[in-house]
Amino acid sequence: MPELAEVEWFRKRWNAGLGDEIVDLSLHAGKYVFRSTNTRALRENLLGERLLRSTRLGKQMHFEFSGDNWLAVHLGMTGKTHAEVPDFRPGGHDHLVLYQRNRALVFTRGFDQKFLDQFFDRHHQAPIKGVLLMQHGFPGIGNWMADEILWRAKVLPPKRTGKLSACERAAIFRAAKFVVKKSLQSLGKDFSDPPKNWLIHQKWKRNGICPRHHTPLHHATIAGRTTVWCRRCQK
Ligand SMILES: [Zn+2]
Repeated sequence: MPELAEVEWFRKRWNAGLGDEIVDLSLHAGKYVFRSTNTRALRENLLGERLLRSTRLGKQMHFEFSGDNWLAVHLGMTGKTHAEVPDFRPGGHDHLVLYQRNRALVFTRGFDQKFLDQFFDRHHQAPIKGVLLMQHGFPGIGNWMADEILWRAKVLPPKRTGKLSACERAAIFRAAKFVVKKSLQSLGKDFSDPPKNWLIHQKWKRNGICPRHHTPLHHATIAGRTTVWCRRCQK
């Protein structure tokens, strides 16, 4: 789950629109995203109103509009709020766009290879393990998940992000989607642990082994965090 500081960071992305009126609204109402929201009421209530302020309640962001209207946003694992140009054209992952005269306030869910590539390019000097832990890029990916992703993608955690091949980037993207989805599923069902053949079960053991090769895992500190990997799997 995202850290509070990161929820705070995303809450402020919409500060650009404080005081301005909502002139149009675009909804791409994925069932999951707007579970308990009446989307028609959302449109009727927000059009013509001004964004007054925002607050954070735990991991939820609350946006207050004139006319005593509120919008609560929970980022979950892959949510992002951002401000874009006024004629912003929403893509498949942009679930809510609030248009103002001078900008568009966007709520996006999900990430794609393009996003990952751009983020990696911006942080090409840093080790890939450290980049996966940057919460403004990958909200919700914590220390154990980053190791799990790199083990699945067969990429060495200390490797410089700029040195990754297109193939490795694609493998990291696939592994990240898989790990986030699967861990949400098992957490959502019964708060159970991820499957037995995952790296996480070996990570904190003193004599942890690679679930694939049954050989001892290598330990090091990268970007200030304990990191494990398999020297046979990860190059
Ligand atoms: Zn291995």
